[in-house]
Amino acid sequence: MKITRVSVWQIDLPLTEPYWLSGGRLKFERLDSTFLRIDTDEGLSGWGESCPWGHTYLPAHGPGVRAGIETLAPALIGLDPRSVDHVNRVMDVQLPGHPYVKSAVDIACWDILGQSASLPLWQLLGGAEASPVAVNSSISTGTPDEMIALINAAAEKGYTVHSAKVGGTDIAADIDRIEAISAALPDGHRVTFDVNRAWQPATAIEVLNSVTARDWVEQPCETLDQCAHVAGRVRNPILLDECMTTMNDHLEASRRGACEGVKIKPGRVGGLTRARQIRDFGLSVGWQMHIEDVGGSALADTAAIHLAAATPDANRLASWLCHYHLAIDPVPDQGARNLDGAATPPDLPGLGVTPDPDLLGAPMAIYGD
Ligand code: MG
Repeated sequence: MKITRVSVWQIDLPLTEPYWLSGGRLKFERLDSTFLRIDTDEGLSGWGESCPWGHTYLPAHGPGVRAGIETLAPALIGLDPRSVDHVNRVMDVQLPGHPYVKSAVDIACWDILGQSASLPLWQLLGGAEASPVAVNSSISTGTPDEMIALINAAAEKGYTVHSAKVGGTDIAADIDRIEAISAALPDGHRVTFDVNRAWQPATAIEVLNSVTARDWVEQPCETLDQCAHVAGRVRNPILLDECMTTMNDHLEASRRGACEGVKIKPGRVGGLTRARQIRDFGLSVGWQMHIEDVGGSALADTAAIHLAAATPDANRLASWLCHYHLAIDPVPDQGARNLDGAATPPDLPGLGVTPDPDLLGAPMAIYGD
């Protein structure tokens, strides 16, 4: 089987409401997503999506996805898409780094691999069944009362796990947020306080040694070095997110005891192939993991949910679904959706999400024949 054509769509994904994180210094209103379809000489086609969460969240850029695919496409034509590791090696030779570009290509190759084997991705990724995965809410930064109201509204939709965005220059305000939210959680609910790298190490140590809450704290500072310094001086379990890109980052975090868990996002690490490798490393060192994508529609969310569903319960905390923050749905009624606080991956062969090109409009680029 050979790749004959790569088609690319740019899709604007407006958020239903402006979203603030990192202590209010980062605001998001619209995501720039790229849909990609790979066609083959045997009639199978696969879909992928890469959608950075804006361009201030990670070193990833919506237009950069399309520019990178333009560079990679000539090397992809003629490859067997089922040889996912080989496809990744070719991409790494042609364009070192830029994992967010490669994620859409890699997911589309997995989609074709699954269809050719007549197996859903959760099974190809090692799962025993299409397990429902706990879905977490995402609570934008605000006053304690505003954030507790958002958590209660999420609880009414079935969410039992929450990610509350904190982190700012006002230490007392962060202490208030954490203590108030932790105390107000409905029975049986869990929360992670996501700092999105806003604190300096001294701030993180002061805040976390001032609160009585012992909930998870995510990405307290910018770098792995800073987070490792903090992790050794506080009692809260630490989850790392933005500073973790390569396998080496994960090896280093484990060696240094910098965290008890990580977020694994295909769009940040380079697709399902890399995300699976990191997931397996996480299992070997006993991490607890969130497996979800950086952003995007139900297409990107579903790819991540397949991997999450193939991960043992004991090593899986929850997954966030970006598509509930979007004002439009480019793949209506398809893919993993929140049902009473859990999402189950499709049982169809491959990814199980097939966008209707008529809904997407004309592709902005077609490479190959
Ligand atoms: Mg995070």
